[in-house]
Amino acid sequence: MNQTQHAIPLEAKSPFELRVNLSAGMPETDMRTALATGEMGFLHSFTTGSTVDGPGVRVVGWTTGCQFRCLYCHNPDTWNMSNGIPVALARATEELRKYRQGLKVMSGGFTLSGGEPLMQDRFVVKLLAAAKRMGIHTALDTNGALGARLSDADLAHVDLVLLDIKSWDPELHRRLTGMELGPVLDFAQRLAACRIPIWVRFVLVPGLTDETENIAQIARFSADLGNVQRVDVLPFHQMGRFKWKELKLNYSLEDVQPPGTEAVEHACAQFRALGLKAY
Ligand code: SF4
Repeated sequence: MNQTQHAIPLEAKSPFELRVNLSAGMPETDMRTALATGEMGFLHSFTTGSTVDGPGVRVVGWTTGCQFRCLYCHNPDTWNMSNGIPVALARATEELRKYRQGLKVMSGGFTLSGGEPLMQDRFVVKLLAAAKRMGIHTALDTNGALGARLSDADLAHVDLVLLDIKSWDPELHRRLTGMELGPVLDFAQRLAACRIPIWVRFVLVPGLTDETENIAQIARFSADLGNVQRVDVLPFHQMGRFKWKELKLNYSLEDVQPPGTEAVEHACAQFRALGLKAY
């Protein structure tokens, strides 16, 4: 462990803290072993007190590593796994144990988010299993593309999936994220078959994802699944812009304004028209 790692606590005020190179110097083979065994994970941080990442009040573990490159990503420092703090499974479990009683009282739980948690699927499964053993409700916030890495037995440790559906149009999805849409939809259908509840997350970006037809198709798909408990329409914002600049990444949404209340309401209404709860 280098000096920077000692200086950075696992707990953060919010995932908007810029964190980089916290696994720098860790040998490649150690990283590979960590990923294969799940005995160690790479975390941007733990945050507490979230009321938007699942039911009740949540502790959220923010993982590093993501294969998507969303144009609107507000945490691009989580793209590279080596930006995260290497955290032993036992340490992460103990961290969670501290909040066990409080989470029960507040009808909350533990959410793993990122980055893309399933880049570290073995660690994720082991940590969620540990949470379940402590009686803590578990949620997985994922872009869904690596869902096939989870067996049905793995999925038994997941009480809820927060699934990002970024676009219905495969070409737009590719342009937005750099990756294919198909595996995301496949995972959604598998969750439906396993009767694991989903909260769909849809980021409303003016000029990109806000076409009525795009939203209508996502709404239709979500309604047909039968296991979507709610839809969160997340208005695009510029809170992550500073990270793109700090990381010297080319940010193409510089001039895009957050959607107005009316546009968000219109999107929500499209989901509600098909019987879904949308916020
Ligand atoms: S999936 Fe999430 S973490 Fe990954 S690039 Fe997209 S918004 Fe960022």
